[in-house]
Amino acid sequence: MTRADLVVTDIGELATLASGPVPRTGPAMRELGRLSRAAVAVDAGRFVYVGSEAACKREVRLRSGGSRWSAAGGTVVPGFVDPHTHVLFAGDRAAEIDLKIGGASYRDIVRRGGGLFQTVRATRRASTALLLRSAEARLRRMAAMGTTSCEVKSGYALTPAGERRLLSLVPILARRTGLRLVPTFLGAHAVPPEYTDRPDDYVSALLTDALPAVARHHLAGYCDAFCEPGFFSVEQTERLLLAARAAGLGLKIHADEFGRSGGAALAARLGCRSADHLLESSDEDRHALAAAGVTAVLLPLTPFASFAGRSSPGREMVDAGVPVAVGTDLSPNSWVESMPVVLSHSVYAARLTPAEALTAATVNAAHAIGLAGEAGTIAVGRPADFVAFDVPSSEQIPYRFGLTPERVYRRGICVSPARERPP
Ligand code: ZN
Repeated sequence: MTRADLVVTDIGELATLASGPVPRTGPAMRELGRLSRAAVAVDAGRFVYVGSEAACKREVRLRSGGSRWSAAGGTVVPGFVDPHTHVLFAGDRAAEIDLKIGGASYRDIVRRGGGLFQTVRATRRASTALLLRSAEARLRRMAAMGTTSCEVKSGYALTPAGERRLLSLVPILARRTGLRLVPTFLGAHAVPPEYTDRPDDYVSALLTDALPAVARHHLAGYCDAFCEPGFFSVEQTERLLLAARAAGLGLKIHADEFGRSGGAALAARLGCRSADHLLESSDEDRHALAAAGVTAVLLPLTPFASFAGRSSPGREMVDAGVPVAVGTDLSPNSWVESMPVVLSHSVYAARLTPAEALTAATVNAAHAIGLAGEAGTIAVGRPADFVAFDVPSSEQIPYRFGLTPERVYRRGICVSPARERPP
């Protein structure tokens, strides 16, 4: 008899995502490991039973004081993993919407000293207490929408000390929110005003000052760079990432978002963990990513929020055999906190099937940030992070725009809806 402190019964569809190699590619991205009339049981934060409801009744005994919840025929999926966020920032840029509607691109706004540089000024000025408070509020809203693990990039300080300050907040935010957070060093988000027209000097400063400190103090698991015209060239990106790899960090690239600048090809050549955005990538790039096993992290709300008139190449990536993950790209440019909204856009804009989108938001997203062993699947022995929706099947999560979870469990504790506090 298996003992459990939580049993969830009457699950109409349980998508476990638990079988097959990780990351998933091609047709395997549509295999969700579905069970119907299912139940799960949890003890001390980990799944101890995943299977049919009938066998659960025979095999699992609830501990005294344990809890039982009926999903009432709804759907249960793994907790979402958001593999690309810029959640650590101050201020907002709602005022840019009118500029964007007037035809200004992300790069136009940055060139005028606004956009990202406005956020850099606000973030540099912000107190640590304010940064923590605002990022914590965003993370809590993300958690209420089903995110249980996510990546957190630095990149809005663009000074060695400022970037270290941002990264040092990540473990504090993880403790405060209970989310599993993976920090990424994005000192090469843009060339800061102090180095205007001297990007090589800024890369040198990152190599000699910021990066060694990040590595020495274990402030980040990954190093990322914004490899785009007007930001960092392929050569500058390669110089930084080779040093990051030598320092023990995993590698990521913001690649081929505004133009086909060679970021995807570089990611394939270096064997990066992921190449992100990839709006302008070509067939050749996709084949190179597939051959190198680099995960494409697609951010389908970003072109939408930028009025770019284009869509993430989800269908093309899956058909080329590239492992695909999806994320929010939460930032002041594309303020997206909801992974269910990302799932809808992954389907309706990037043309992933609902099953592929769910794979991209769970098991493949976990792989993209190095959490494949801990997140993104529902299996005995794994941390019990899962989300229940009041819909009869998992296709309906992206199908219904703006769907809200019924319940979110993290390590077997119901974190949303939050337990009401006594008056
Ligand atoms: Zn980004």
